[in-house]
Amino acid sequence: MLVMSHVLAAVAWPYANGPRHIGHVSGFGVPSDVFARYMRMAGHDVLMVSGTDEHGTPIQVQADAEGLTARELADRYNRVIVEDLCGLGLSYDLFTRTTTRNHYAVVQEMFEGLYRNGYIVPKTAMGAISPSTGRTLPDRYIEGTCPICGYDSARGDQCDNCGNQLDPIDLINPRSKINGETPEFVETEHFFLDLPALADVLRQWLDTRQGWRPNVLRFSRNLLDDLHPRAITRDLEWGVPIPLDGWRERTDKRIYVWFDAVIGYLSASIEWARRTGDPEAWRKYWHSKDGADAAASASGAGGGARTYHFMGKDNIVFHSIIWPALLAGYSGEGRRDGEPGQLGRLNLPTEVVSSEFLTMEGRKFSSSRRVVIYVRDFLERYDADALRYFIAVAGPETNDTDFTWAEFLRRNNDELVAGWGNLVNRSVSMAAKNFGAIPPVGPDGLTEADEALLAVARAGFATVGDLIAHHRQKQAIGEAMKVVAEANKYLSEQTPWKLKGEADKPRMGTILHVALQVVSDANTLLTPFLPHSAQKVHELLGGTGVHAPMPVIEEVADLDGGPGYPVLTGDYTQGARWESVPIEVGRPLAAPKPVFRKLDPSIVNEELARLGG
Ligand SMILES: [Zn+2]
Repeated sequence: MLVMSHVLAAVAWPYANGPRHIGHVSGFGVPSDVFARYMRMAGHDVLMVSGTDEHGTPIQVQADAEGLTARELADRYNRVIVEDLCGLGLSYDLFTRTTTRNHYAVVQEMFEGLYRNGYIVPKTAMGAISPSTGRTLPDRYIEGTCPICGYDSARGDQCDNCGNQLDPIDLINPRSKINGETPEFVETEHFFLDLPALADVLRQWLDTRQGWRPNVLRFSRNLLDDLHPRAITRDLEWGVPIPLDGWRERTDKRIYVWFDAVIGYLSASIEWARRTGDPEAWRKYWHSKDGADAAASASGAGGGARTYHFMGKDNIVFHSIIWPALLAGYSGEGRRDGEPGQLGRLNLPTEVVSSEFLTMEGRKFSSSRRVVIYVRDFLERYDADALRYFIAVAGPETNDTDFTWAEFLRRNNDELVAGWGNLVNRSVSMAAKNFGAIPPVGPDGLTEADEALLAVARAGFATVGDLIAHHRQKQAIGEAMKVVAEANKYLSEQTPWKLKGEADKPRMGTILHVALQVVSDANTLLTPFLPHSAQKVHELLGGTGVHAPMPVIEEVADLDGGPGYPVLTGDYTQGARWESVPIEVGRPLAAPKPVFRKLDPSIVNEELARLGG
């Protein structure tokens, strides 16, 4: 059993240079929501935050291509992403963005704290200039061959093919995208994060981690063996200004996007607190209780604050090395010591939960090659819970997995519709038709078979809950669906539809009472995975009020005078608890409408025809 605690569900920030596809949300989106929903139902105090990541070269490049400013482009896709995540029912307490004034202020505070403590140091690096104009050539205007994978259109800051971070001087045959000339490299000053000075504290922290997926821990430990100071400023106009005298006013140097984006977990928590009217409320998720040291709390011992990060595997380095390094350096915990800044000593992550990759019909997702289905298009044609079910049961939890339309169809029709949907439908409709209400247990009481099925459902709460708490969602939903299968088997064996005579009717009532109790329990077990249909099943059982709370989009003003924007938020204090609740005998039942939609097999060819060749 988990000790009650403050739980921060810190979800990776989707990049706002375009709409997100189902591969993205299978990595960070749905698993974090399942976890957050379960933890709330189990009685924990959960804060789930994220937002769109809106700085950096790719946004500026995309904006240039579309004749927009970077801000205009970010505005567009921030809204698209907010709407899509809302459509999936992802229960963020706050989904914000990195272009708020609050975020800028928190990023600059972290930068200054790290600088004061000696973990950010100025260093001379080689920067590109245009030989024909003599001016600085921003990263986004430099292209060349990737020195790591050989891709011939790598950018000055990153290779989109292999995903490695680069500096312009690393590129083979660098060229200016403006006029094709070869840039000259001259000495220029940048700021570097002194990662080697934080290696010891990172190692100690990693050594105390428990329950992580082994590949994530192994990968992170290997990174520690080869830490170098890392540039955290770029030649770029779009981003957070450097908050130091002599730098603040410069428009050609900005804080690097990955430095500002990870700080979003903290700035979003602070923004959430400010919006609740209790500006200090974020601290209970970020500071260990009773002044205990951050590492002790992060281990999960005792009831303190715990932080869980959710992301795809391409983001592990930022969450298991860079972000903890920033937190430790700011808190004054590295080799150079120092003092915590005004935000205090901040907890390091409890757990970094990384998913593997989803592929599409055997290929990598690719927007340009049209090997993709965007969340929006998916939700126009199918229900959110159908996708949530597929991701939970067949998603890339610990292995790369493939999304195929044939498998999606099969999972939807054979498992959701014919398994769970059928159990709900036949139990409720038989009870409605024969009793008009939830029938009582008859005078003969419960048989061994009745008791056995009820026990299986009740036992599911401990099993399924523990699996979700330990990020084994595939197995968790498998256990919940086993309860569904057992109940279907029970109905087939008990054949209540044959017990129509006056003498048999009390036994029919008992069987349906048992079936409806198990439907109610299974519905609670499935609620973190399938919140939309869980609400419907709750209502089919005659329930009222909120069973599975849903997020809403609110248009808000920037707290510090910037432009307004949409956020995803919600009131998640209502809703089902993680426990078996006895069904109420006599509660009226009506003939049910199907909870899930059976899909026509023709959708497979229709969808395949939409993909690029
Ligand atoms: Zn590459």
